[in-house]
Amino acid sequence: MARDWRSAPERGGSCLPQVQQIGAALTRGAAPFQNGEVTGYYSNLGPFRRLFESGLPILMYHKLGPRPRKVRLKGLYLSKSLFTRQLAELRASGFNTVRIGVPIPATGTNRSVVITFDDGFLNVLKHGLEPLAVNRFSAVQFLVANRLGGQNDWDIADGEAHAPLMSLDQVREWLAAGHWIGSHSLSHPWLTQIPMPQAREEIRASKRKLEDLFGVSVDDFCYPYGDWNPEVRDLVIEAGYRTACTTQSGINAPNADLFSLQRFSARYPSRNLKDIWARLWGTQGRSSM
Ligand SMILES: [Zn+2]
Repeated sequence: MARDWRSAPERGGSCLPQVQQIGAALTRGAAPFQNGEVTGYYSNLGPFRRLFESGLPILMYHKLGPRPRKVRLKGLYLSKSLFTRQLAELRASGFNTVRIGVPIPATGTNRSVVITFDDGFLNVLKHGLEPLAVNRFSAVQFLVANRLGGQNDWDIADGEAHAPLMSLDQVREWLAAGHWIGSHSLSHPWLTQIPMPQAREEIRASKRKLEDLFGVSVDDFCYPYGDWNPEVRDLVIEAGYRTACTTQSGINAPNADLFSLQRFSARYPSRNLKDIWARLWGTQGRSSM
């Protein structure tokens, strides 16, 4: 797992800076696997089925529902109908949702999947509860503890469109529907780019605050922008979390490091993505290694 950690010094405004390899794959034609690397987005189970059976798959979502105008990162929106189709397909194939950190037997017949949402967007509550309930699935929302009821101001600074975040009452509604919450820090900073004491506070105080506000144990962390390194990982462990999710794409083997879990970004490839990658990274097809 040594290659999994790296900082993400580029400040492109995306919630997902560590997807250069996916961008590169898109410019080549978006095959989901190349040379054993997972390079494509999760859109339907077909090409991922065998891989999902081999470990614990964690799906990563951000926003659901109609995409407002002037959104920069269009790929972070998924329509309710596609989300509904994805869940129905998993259900029909015998998959059940589990909480992050549940041990996966190394049998190659896994039927567990974790559904995660980053940032705590209100549109997930609005468009996601029904399809989740219909399939009897539970999902985790990674909340930005100091932004509840606010908006995605970490994105707005980089020119992204405003999107409201769940308020306290709306998070309570999410929990009451049988879902979970995790921490996505206090303010969504680049954790490897700020002083260590500040990173420690972002990680530790967000856990405490969410637990105090909602009366549940907050055991799961998600690195903002997928930005982490061994020091940041140690802070997450020190704060008492049990798991942490990255934005690295891949399946989690039964012996995976619980503090650098990999996820599959669920979305439908957009023709515009190529342009977005090119704008974000200044080049097409650049390796992320
Ligand atoms: Zn985020």
